[in-house]
Amino acid sequence: MKRDFTLQTYRDFLSCAIEQGYKLTTFEDYVTNDYSGKKVMILRHDVDRLPGNSLDTARIQYQLGVRGSYYFRVVPESYHPLMIEKIRDLGHEIGYHYEDMALNNGDKVKAIRAFEKNLEMFRGYYPVKTICMHGSPLSKWDNRLIWEDYNYRDYGIIAEPYFDVDFSKVLYITDTGRQWNRTSSSVRDKVDSPFKFKFSSTFDLIGALRNNELPDHIMQNIHPQRWNDGLAGWSQELVVQNMKNQVKRIIVKLR
Ligand SMILES: [Zn+2]
Repeated sequence: MKRDFTLQTYRDFLSCAIEQGYKLTTFEDYVTNDYSGKKVMILRHDVDRLPGNSLDTARIQYQLGVRGSYYFRVVPESYHPLMIEKIRDLGHEIGYHYEDMALNNGDKVKAIRAFEKNLEMFRGYYPVKTICMHGSPLSKWDNRLIWEDYNYRDYGIIAEPYFDVDFSKVLYITDTGRQWNRTSSSVRDKVDSPFKFKFSSTFDLIGALRNNELPDHIMQNIHPQRWNDGLAGWSQELVVQNMKNQVKRIIVKLR
């Protein structure tokens, strides 16, 4: 039996969507263009941790000629300047996976100041136009509460999936707990949806795509840290190698 949640399986999933006529694209592209009557799948990635794994999926998409959106957190397990630059340089959208309410213990004034500062930091890499909240499952604070008092549009943000996507028309699929749409293992990352699809595996999901059973508009939200081939060391090796090469270059210059 084939192993699920491998990079190869993810590549098969994307290839199948392309074969079925879906345009695979960023959230920014989706909200700024009219996709009515067209088949489109938003490639969203919440980079909760292990950003090197996101470089792996970003490379697969680059090889397939498609772009996606990568949402990074400010915490060290996600925020990694080199990875952000590499993923950006492959043509992908960079966004902010905000959790300022949780990080500021529910103080909205502190949270919005932090949000502004963090957004500026990410704009050093990419002209960030879209954001999405981190679920902060261990915090009592829902990060979306900040928007009771403030408006992200005042900060040049054009869309946040939880507020700006009509999930009665867009099928939301997420790899929560290494399963598809298992709402029981997700505290806040879920949407109200009229769709009643159950996918027991990615192969099952690919089958549904192939049989043309899915709606025209889909948002896939994956956490790339959940996908690997046991090749995890490979991208880490690349970073180490790049650093070694930079050090080597500096040493060469100093000579
Ligand atoms: Zn998250």
